[in-house]
Amino acid sequence: MTTAQIAAWCGAPETQVIVRPVIDLNNHGSVESYEIPDRLREQVILRDLGCVAPFCTKRARHADIDHILEWTLGGSTGDLNLAPLCRKHHRAKTFSAWTYTMLQPGSYLWRSPRGHVYFRDGTGTRDLTPRPLDPPGG
Ligand SMILES: [Zn+2]
Repeated sequence: MTTAQIAAWCGAPETQVIVRPVIDLNNHGSVESYEIPDRLREQVILRDLGCVAPFCTKRARHADIDHILEWTLGGSTGDLNLAPLCRKHHRAKTFSAWTYTMLQPGSYLWRSPRGHVYFRDGTGTRDLTPRPLDPPGG
């Protein structure tokens, strides 16, 4: 992009200029309130891009932002405790025994009510459920 291009765009009557702050995904922050400020919401959406539930393909832009550890239990309203969940998975996490934890920003470990274990990150989902060992000699 050149300054001439920018000047041309700004001279066009249909141009709308929106200036947004740069969001550094490596800069971690939290606020005191339960409500999630737009800036934190945007940071979480840009980090995860989609619902972080196992195998889900819903886009983060249309998802709820979940407090991984509930706010009422001491979970912070910060990027390290927030993740996008689509409405279906947000309800499943809230009203059933599904649990998950953030291993590092963008990586999650899920446990289903039946004890299945899933690793989820930006590359997809891996089923890490322990399998029974094969019997010796079998
Ligand atoms: Zn989902």
